[in-house]
Amino acid sequence: MNKDTLLDVVKTRKDGILQNELWKVVGIDSPKCSRLVKRLLKKNLITREKVIAKGSRTFLIRSVEEGMLGTVKKESLIYLIANGHFSPCTGCRLECEPKYCKYLTDWIDNLLAEEIKNKKLEVCL
Ligand code: SF4
Repeated sequence: MNKDTLLDVVKTRKDGILQNELWKVVGIDSPKCSRLVKRLLKKNLITREKVIAKGSRTFLIRSVEEGMLGTVKKESLIYLIANGHFSPCTGCRLECEPKYCKYLTDWIDNLLAEEIKNKKLEVCL
């Protein structure tokens, strides 16, 4: 089992698949599934959204298809997706002052956390 096989399974689910179902469908254990999901998130090949299903916290995993993005290149998704979550401003209809927006602040915190994590990884290598 590798990340490509896992991605193939995710792609077959148009509305996404719950992570606590994905590892069972693919036939791997939950920790391995989490590692593969993180690799796919890092490459912006999937999105991950926190959900509660049947009373349990899990994630809804969706594939990022070329067609969904029109002419947007996957490399440019770094500005739209962080940790598998779309920017809160994408499609937002709230009237706002960005300076005081909690959603935007959390989003920027996520981007910074990712950047710090990636730099730590480079230092470790
Ligand atoms: S800054 Fe906040 S309120 Fe404004 S568009 Fe972004 S998410 Fe919406």
